[in-house]
Amino acid sequence: MTGAVTGKVTGKVAEAATGARGGRPVVVVGAGAAGLMAAIFAGRARPAGGVVLVERSRDGGRKILISGGGRCNVLPSELDPRHYVTSSSPHTLRNLLLSWPLDEQRAFFEEDLGVPLALEPESGKLFPVSNRARDVRDALVRVAREAGVRILFERSVEGLEPPGSTASWRVHLDGGETMAARAVILATGGLSVPATGSDGTGLRLVEALGHRVHPVYPALTPLLTEPAVHAGLAGVSLEATVAARGVRGRAGEGRPRVSGGFLFTHRGYSGPSVLNVSHFAVKARAEGHPQVLEVAWTGEDATTWDERLQEATSGNVGPLLRRTLPHRLVDRILEEVGVPPDRALARLRREERARLVAALTAYPLPWTGDEGYRKAEVTGGGVELGEVDPRTLESRIHPGLYLCGEILDAFGPIGGYNFAWAWATGRRAGQAAGSDPGLGSGSEPGSDSGSDVGSDAGSGSGSADAMG
Ligand SMILES: Cc1cc2nc3c(=O)[nH]c(=O)nc-3n(C[C@H](O)[C@H](O)[C@H](O)COP(=O)(O)OP(=O)(O)OC[C@H]3O[C@@H](n4cnc5c(N)ncnc54)[C@H](O)[C@@H]3O)c2cc1C
Repeated sequence: MTGAVTGKVTGKVAEAATGARGGRPVVVVGAGAAGLMAAIFAGRARPAGGVVLVERSRDGGRKILISGGGRCNVLPSELDPRHYVTSSSPHTLRNLLLSWPLDEQRAFFEEDLGVPLALEPESGKLFPVSNRARDVRDALVRVAREAGVRILFERSVEGLEPPGSTASWRVHLDGGETMAARAVILATGGLSVPATGSDGTGLRLVEALGHRVHPVYPALTPLLTEPAVHAGLAGVSLEATVAARGVRGRAGEGRPRVSGGFLFTHRGYSGPSVLNVSHFAVKARAEGHPQVLEVAWTGEDATTWDERLQEATSGNVGPLLRRTLPHRLVDRILEEVGVPPDRALARLRREERARLVAALTAYPLPWTGDEGYRKAEVTGGGVELGEVDPRTLESRIHPGLYLCGEILDAFGPIGGYNFAWAWATGRRAGQAAGSDPGLGSGSEPGSDSGSDVGSDAGSGSGSADAMG
């Protein structure tokens, strides 16, 4: 498809020009995790025309700043591709993810960015030694500039036009300016936490360009219950196992049974175990069928609890449960199954024991909804992985267009998995786009000879005023 104008382009379209080294630049759209990494590697490839990174927020990487509770869980210490979720080929996902081995990713942060990482043993997550997400974001921006990348902050890409009669991509910015590009890397993320700048514009652009976008949905999101039947337990947290009943967990579905932190909130449920299975609930609801989520409050199975309750001949039920579970939760469970906490274990009737064992090991969580994109850590769905070349991340539909990060149809569980995806795909797209000669290599005659786009190589933010 050629010549299609996508997105809304209003006002005077000015031809803004190319880079200081001549030729047309590689334009990276979005300075999040994937776009910053892509810009660094594209910059290091030194394409004629340089690399321009366009970011709508004032300083970029805003999701990096809020990640990991402000500490940024940069990577996991182990990476299992089977834990990712995609509607595309899990095999392609695996290839892309493993294109940058985990130990090399870690070395990049420590050696190239100068951000040493430390393992949090209990979670297996890697954080910066400083525990400051800002250090990660700032280092990425600094190294991008050192690679010669010119950054235009507070500028938004509103349209993309593939090479048609000209040999350049046309990148339409807010305000009516247009940049000519030899290649475009789209790293605009998904829809989660729109306050960080990710509002789905990129998804609309690629869809308009003819790409297949799998339906998007909030993932890694807290669940809600209406009415808030467990509001009285708000603040109670424990280690639990949450399972999506009846789900086998085929390749690409993610894990249907997850152990980890569980948190009661005023409106529902959160914590890693809930977030990691939330997509089963969200997708089922969107598709109009019920999905039961069951909780094993101690992670132990029915046989273990049945034996424990039968073997304990002295003492009462309440104290036995309180040895392993938070007191408020114990009171609530006993109330629900109709067993008083001071019931002697020796006098527990068979049906009472059966109800209690079921409530302890397969408690049906009364969820009714989810927190949506406002709180979702990632967006499920996105651009079909089969529509990019796995060796380069170049679009199979539009040569010269590269896609990376969350815009693609993949996400992983909590634990650094999502940055690992953003870093790996960003690097690969940057390397490939940086060495892309572009159609009709060299300067494009007649059209790209206006003013320079952002003359801030190695300095502060780009300036809209610099545009033609
Ligand atoms: C609260 C929270 C905590 C998280 N913690 C972790 C964690 O600890 N570890 C982990 O691995 N993952 C974590 N994640 C997930 C992780 O942040 C994302 O997977 C990752 O940031 C995706 O990177 P991306 O570059 O693809 O997209 P984004 O980070 O969303 O970046 C997209 C960028 O593109 C810009 N943009 C969008 N449209 C345009 C446009 N039209 N023009 C110009 N610019 C545009 C946006 O402003 C944004 O800067 C967390 C997410 C959230 C919300």
